[in-house]
Amino acid sequence: MIYDFLIIGAGSAGCNCAYALNKAGKKVAIVDKEGICAGGSGAAGAFLSPLPGKKNSYNSLVNSALNYSINFYENLLPNSVTKKGVLRVQNDNFDETKLKDNEIEYEYKKFNDIEGYFYKDAAIINPSEICNKLVENCDFFLLDVSELIYKDNIYHIGDLKAKQIILTQGVNTPIISYPYLKISPVFGVKIDVKTSTNVPFNIHKSISVSTNKKDGTVAIGATSINHFLEGIECTTTCDKCMFLINNDEEDVKSLLSQADELINLKDLEVIKVYKGARATVKSYFPVMGKIINYNESIKKYPAIKNGRKIPNDLLEYYPNVYALNALGSRGFVFGPYLAKILKENILDGVDIPKDTSLEKLFYKMARRKS
Ligand SMILES: Cc1cc2nc3c(=O)[nH]c(=O)nc-3n(C[C@H](O)[C@H](O)[C@H](O)COP(=O)(O)OP(=O)(O)OC[C@H]3O[C@@H](n4cnc5c(N)ncnc54)[C@H](O)[C@@H]3O)c2cc1C
Repeated sequence: MIYDFLIIGAGSAGCNCAYALNKAGKKVAIVDKEGICAGGSGAAGAFLSPLPGKKNSYNSLVNSALNYSINFYENLLPNSVTKKGVLRVQNDNFDETKLKDNEIEYEYKKFNDIEGYFYKDAAIINPSEICNKLVENCDFFLLDVSELIYKDNIYHIGDLKAKQIILTQGVNTPIISYPYLKISPVFGVKIDVKTSTNVPFNIHKSISVSTNKKDGTVAIGATSINHFLEGIECTTTCDKCMFLINNDEEDVKSLLSQADELINLKDLEVIKVYKGARATVKSYFPVMGKIINYNESIKKYPAIKNGRKIPNDLLEYYPNVYALNALGSRGFVFGPYLAKILKENILDGVDIPKDTSLEKLFYKMARRKS
């Protein structure tokens, strides 16, 4: 069988792409070297929260994605979604005039000893249940892909064959080269705890404490450790990663003490510790689209390095290979929304918004190199 699409990486990005394309009638296979929702996605909160503050292109993207995604998950798997809103506790950066400059509704709220701004459109989901549901009508293979062989307009990946490829590899080294996408892994720890306390909604300050999920447990997350600042070389394969093999006592302690500033969780017991890496780029924007062949494009149009812009369709692209990556710390907020945009781009030729396009990063790197 020849699949219409083969997706490499079964996290939020890959599973959402698989779902969107399968819904559009395409035959989709998805592969992952570790399993479904095993990478960064398996460690996610997964909190779905608005990004308040003076309106700009980044928070507008986050908030549009949030509105879309909460509805999407509620329709997909209502039992995996707990939507009770979030109280964002005031900190020094809070400025009410900036909050007013945004159309997201909020109300001022006091709760026990804390106070802040309450947003009703916020939720927490179960990332593993959601990812598994997203790919239930696709074929999944446990496979570590090391190369793509392109022959007679078909990609061969081991025994699998596909017409088009989507790379959704998170922080892992991409299997084809697109050096203008420079991913920095931001590692983190999240915990699930048992408690006898009823937490009425999610509470967020520097970290978030969730409302009681469907199984009664509460999630607390997440820490953020920029690998590069730690001075450790990132292998981005994670199996030999110092962060993942070192013990996480300090992170857990830090999460518990930050949570304690927000709410007193009685009879607390840590039941599970999750670790993972978020894939981020400097601008924080996620990126997607058809993958440009950097060297071939520059060879064809050297003037690009001097600032010349070429119509996109004249650049050199890898045939039928796309990417969705750099979802940062909002992988489950962005996933469904961006997968829909990428699907519309691939199947219907709808443009990808400039801020999230690979072309933007391509031109940036070409000019920097000149
Ligand atoms: C601690 C923590 C807390 C977070 N909290 C939240 C939150 O509250 N809300 C939220 O929305 N987001 C949160 N995130 C962010 C979110 O988890 C990520 O943005 C999201 O998981 C990224 O998804 P992805 O599919 O791009 O990458 P990943 O989930 O990392 O998936 C990439 C997959 O590709 C596979 N892969 C890579 N290369 C290959 C290959 N060659 N062959 C086969 N398989 C391959 C990997 O095994 C991996 O499973 C959090 C992340 C962390 C780490």
